[in-house]
Amino acid sequence: MSSLEKTLSIIKPDAVERNLTKNIQEYFLKNNFKILKEKKIQITKDEAAEFYKVHQTKPFYDRLCNYLASGPIIVMVLEGESVIKANRDLMGSTDPSKAKKGTIRGEYGISIDKNSVHGSDSAENAEKEINFFFKN
Ligand code: UDP
Ligand code: MG
Repeated sequence: MSSLEKTLSIIKPDAVERNLTKNIQEYFLKNNFKILKEKKIQITKDEAAEFYKVHQTKPFYDRLCNYLASGPIIVMVLEGESVIKANRDLMGSTDPSKAKKGTIRGEYGISIDKNSVHGSDSAENAEKEINFFFKN
């Protein structure tokens, strides 16, 4: 059964700063994901806190929000066949030291907090996260 989906992807400050945007987008295009929407923005800490609300009880929450607001990011809507899971697989493990070679985090991630990319983890969160950044 085919299922064309959309997901939200973010290229995080560590990767934008290292000029890895094009390299990371190549991974998406090679995997037949379409980049439907794309914008470069910098968000406030309050916006980051809202975006990462699911993690508000975690010990790393404050650091995570400061980090996402620390520099420009690229937010994108990706579209493709089962793209939510396909993108998670392509990103690799949250901790780059555990991410497989050939995954984005395996290639470019620096540490568990500077892990270069975000990707929605479910259909419900993909919809919420797309609406968060692209309200039309
Ligand atoms: N994170 C962190 N320390 C941890 C776990 C997560 O700094 O111990 C950060 C990391 O940047 C991660 C983000 O919090 O990408 C969200 O965590 P999640 O478990 O949702 O990982 P992801 O979905 O990004 O793989
Ligand atoms: Mg997550």
